[in-house]
Amino acid sequence: MSLDTGLAPGHRAVVEERLYGVCDYYDAESLLSDDERRVLGRLRSFLDEKARPLLAEYWERGEFPQQLAQPLADLDLMEPAELTGAGPDRSPARGIYHGFRIFELARTDASLATWYTAQAGLFRTAVRVGASAEQQAEWMPKVIDFSLKGVFSLTEPESGSDIAGGLLTTARREGDSWVLDGAKRWIGGAATADVLAVFARDVADGQVKAFLVDREADGVTLEKIHGKTALRMMQNAHTTLEGVRVPESMRLHSVNSFRDVAAMLRAMRSDVAWIAAGIQAGAFEAALRYVTERRQFGRPLGSFQLVQEKLARMLGNVTSSLSLVVRLTEQQARGIYRDQDSALAKMQTSLLMRETVALAREVVGGNGITLASDVARFHADAEAVYSYEGTHEINALIVGRALTGESAFTR
Ligand SMILES: Cc1cc2nc3c(=O)[nH]c(=O)nc-3n(C[C@H](O)[C@H](O)[C@H](O)COP(=O)(O)OP(=O)(O)OC[C@H]3O[C@@H](n4cnc5c(N)ncnc54)[C@H](O)[C@@H]3O)c2cc1C
Repeated sequence: MSLDTGLAPGHRAVVEERLYGVCDYYDAESLLSDDERRVLGRLRSFLDEKARPLLAEYWERGEFPQQLAQPLADLDLMEPAELTGAGPDRSPARGIYHGFRIFELARTDASLATWYTAQAGLFRTAVRVGASAEQQAEWMPKVIDFSLKGVFSLTEPESGSDIAGGLLTTARREGDSWVLDGAKRWIGGAATADVLAVFARDVADGQVKAFLVDREADGVTLEKIHGKTALRMMQNAHTTLEGVRVPESMRLHSVNSFRDVAAMLRAMRSDVAWIAAGIQAGAFEAALRYVTERRQFGRPLGSFQLVQEKLARMLGNVTSSLSLVVRLTEQQARGIYRDQDSALAKMQTSLLMRETVALAREVVGGNGITLASDVARFHADAEAVYSYEGTHEINALIVGRALTGESAFTR
């Protein structure tokens, strides 16, 4: 879908040329190798040519464009063959490649980025941190090539922010298997997953354990959450577990308390910070394109001082966010993982994201609330990203606890 702003096609091409790369103002991408850039370029072309034309229609329908799922998996983004052997996965640059991959997806669409990180971030992290060495050897190749699709089922209807203490789903050991009972809320991508990584409290020792549950297992019910006003393309499920049997072999053997779940969240929150940076880039670029093309009072909107001030603020927010996630990723690649670091990044990039998408929507005027302008989609979707994987308040409390040594959580 494109807006008719009255601009001649030739002029539009010039505008597109100038926009290219503007959202990476300080050229963080130069930290990547040529091979990494080539892989990202392939992703970018796919997103522009195949995904972008579908977004507005599928957002309005509240459906994920399933025709993109296999081609996206086929792009081999998690461990691209041409990067294998070019250095350890945890080298700073490789971490930044992983981040940019999420950034590019989010810059196109927040649901696409969320869909991808549900597998490449949440589920992969659950297996990487939670599975034993033998389990990883069996499952990880299938996670990477998407032949084993999974989702992360932690949040519950009665417990979101206080899930550590409030988790009510139970696991009862019976011989060589376990019986799970409870409910999970908001689980992204559950309807198309093969397995659900379910976190449940062992009734014997009171500790949180994790299980890979077959989506089709007896006692599992998935209901689509309807009426969403954000991330409409990404499907979320309300899941009920009633006497669901899971063999001991499908328990993640390295998850023995909530401390192990916290280690997963620590790694995953950085991905969300990259998503928040990418959403800002997408909204900013769409807004910049619009104000360059749209004319009022006989001049382009972008020639007005008050509009330029908003453009500068948006660029400042995008650049701050990108700089922050790049630095965080460099730290993590050196093995420095602290709760407060990823919490700070998720909190701050999300805060800036809210301002950026609001400014983008504002400078597009009335068209900014229709799907014809990309900013409306970014503006709506940002609200879900602001809340998931730790709300602003919860991440602020994690940072506050690290700063003062005092936990302000009440449980
Ligand atoms: C689109 C979407 C996708 C999601 N995907 C997944 C998924 O795949 N897997 C999964 O497990 N979960 C998922 N979630 C759940 C998500 O992580 C939770 O929504 C989030 O943790 C917040 O929990 P809640 O919605 O229950 O809000 P609540 O915990 O009920 O919080 C409501 C408000 O109260 C505030 N609040 C709570 N406690 C405090 C406090 N102590 N001090 C100050 N303020 C407080 C919160 O910050 C928030 O503003 C998803 C959510 C969304 C919206």
